[in-house]
Amino acid sequence: MNKKKMLNIFRQTAYVRTGGSAEELRCAEYLVQQCRELGLEARIEGFPVQMANLQEATLTVDGKAITCKGYLCAGNAEVEAPLYYLSSTDAFSLSGCKGKIVMIDGYLGYWMYRDILENGAVGFITYDGNANYRDRDIDQRELRAQVSEGVEKIPGVNINAKDAIALVNGDAKMAKIVLKQEQYEGQSHNVILELPGEVEETIVFTAHYDSTSLSQGAYDNMSGSVGLLGIAEYFTKHPHKYGMRFIFCGSEERGLLGAKAYCRDHEEELKNVVLNINLDMIGCIMGKFIACCTSEDKLVTYIDYLGNELGRGIRAYQDVYSSDSTPFADKGIPAVSFARIAPPNTATIHNSYDTMAVMKMEHMQQDIDFICAFASRMANAVRMPVAREMPQNMKDKLDIYLCRKRDKK
Ligand SMILES: [Zn+2]
Repeated sequence: MNKKKMLNIFRQTAYVRTGGSAEELRCAEYLVQQCRELGLEARIEGFPVQMANLQEATLTVDGKAITCKGYLCAGNAEVEAPLYYLSSTDAFSLSGCKGKIVMIDGYLGYWMYRDILENGAVGFITYDGNANYRDRDIDQRELRAQVSEGVEKIPGVNINAKDAIALVNGDAKMAKIVLKQEQYEGQSHNVILELPGEVEETIVFTAHYDSTSLSQGAYDNMSGSVGLLGIAEYFTKHPHKYGMRFIFCGSEERGLLGAKAYCRDHEEELKNVVLNINLDMIGCIMGKFIACCTSEDKLVTYIDYLGNELGRGIRAYQDVYSSDSTPFADKGIPAVSFARIAPPNTATIHNSYDTMAVMKMEHMQQDIDFICAFASRMANAVRMPVAREMPQNMKDKLDIYLCRKRDKK
């Protein structure tokens, strides 16, 4: 795909498009249009997602209002309790949660939510942004369905890191959270494009096109979506024995919901899927090109050799990648995620700084070229060389990533 066309796509999708929003659907329709310009007919497939309209979200600490955003889908409640900063998750620190509104570091993950609930927390506060950034941005978070599944919901808010630091530094005592919202079931969408091959077996390409609440998501992950368009364009002009299915996934940022929905709703078709190639964050200016293989270890060596053969530096390794490849790998489909990982002081994600400014179109082309070369070898293999099974070490990592087992570390 030429640079001008890629730049145009980045420009035309420079808006926030969170999972389940009207903007996300607008982007889905835009991707269908982009496929049409390649002479290809894609379709949009909906799947249900929890949604909420916030009516009120306030945090008051020692009588002073703190700017916050309420957690979506965390119910309706009004709680007042002492504020407790949980700085570590050892048993002693956790025991201090009882009857408190608990402030935590980082994201509210599955085990963290269960830990604070079990220890008697009545509300929670998270914070994001960076103490050293000039902005006071606050990301719009949600209590994910998967995180609160089977347990009670307690109200929570997200605040800026600067305010979190000030609260702890000022020995804040009493906190009050008021959360009112209307929750409902909405729709998010996957965009699916088929390029039939000569045989039933299919390679599935994935990349998510949704973003988080503050982000235009140029790097994470319009880059991967443009990558899929570039690969589709390449294979309209090059042979492929295996069938190819391109899935532009919705709601990845909400917990891989699009890829999970696809795997749930297409169980039968998955039997013919021999490989998943996932693109999440390619083509940025700074950083290293990687291939994360959730597969047998042999694929790591193959990609390493291919890099040498084609004259392209690539760091291949075996692991679970936090992206749409994971639900496929969990179905036993070997998966590889390609990315160009930026040093965090050059490009960050999930904030207002993820814009076209961090992208380089020549790097986009280099990354797409390598992925096309790899895909071309796989798609024309006499016999798919990658074993269609998951080795035990990857099964164990999938169990931990998908919260079926707890990491002992
Ligand atoms: Zn991403």
